[in-house]
Amino acid sequence: MGFQSYEVLPGVHHILDPLGGVYMTLVIGASRAVLMDAGYGTQDVGAFIRSLTDLPLTVILSHGHHDHALGAMWFEQCCMDAEDLPVFLEYTGKRERERVIVRAGMKSAQAQTYREAVIKAPLPLAYSPIDLGGVTVQPMKAPGHTPGSAALLIPEREVLLLGDCWNPQTWVFFKEALPVETYAASFRRLIALPFTHALAPHQGEMIEKTFLMRYADGLNEKGFATAKPFSVPGHEDVPTLAYEPAPGALLVFRA
Ligand SMILES: [Zn+2]
Repeated sequence: MGFQSYEVLPGVHHILDPLGGVYMTLVIGASRAVLMDAGYGTQDVGAFIRSLTDLPLTVILSHGHHDHALGAMWFEQCCMDAEDLPVFLEYTGKRERERVIVRAGMKSAQAQTYREAVIKAPLPLAYSPIDLGGVTVQPMKAPGHTPGSAALLIPEREVLLLGDCWNPQTWVFFKEALPVETYAASFRRLIALPFTHALAPHQGEMIEKTFLMRYADGLNEKGFATAKPFSVPGHEDVPTLAYEPAPGALLVFRA
């Protein structure tokens, strides 16, 4: 299966990775385009993006985790918050590549190419607006899920690209995750931004801001205190707690 692209707003494409489970988002203006995240990289994401736009392209990684960053191997250069460089180096290394090779069922020649593909270290993300021609992309710092997590605001489309700062199941428990209070403070700053809808990398449909506001309201000491031990499949070794700051949205954080 290849990439599946959905134009959810004019010039805003939410693109499902061929390996499934994770989306990247392409924003196209009159003169430039920005791609947030690059997926697992099991297929040529660069060629796919070129089939949607031939405008000059900036690739921004929301953070350094493998399911967002490994696809950067198909691009000349990308950028990311400099604080996530250690995360990027760990998660784009041998361990995650070997897991992806198995999961994707790659044949030996393809596996070897994937194993050896070079990803240039991302350039430091500048937190200044990027003018795409009629559309602006404003990177926002949002430490929590990882130290260098970032979100992107597109004011003209009133949409926020959340990165892993929010998902139907939000994870703030990896060793590189910051304290849940730091995550909550970042999330509240995002919620104060002018937007009406948001896109998350692990959900296909847009999310209404009103729902995220309820979720933000639930991010408090009282909520944290109600969290119960929770086992994340594949990460049973990490002691975690979980609760729903808003109905249907689970926050999992380090115990
Ligand atoms: Zn992540």
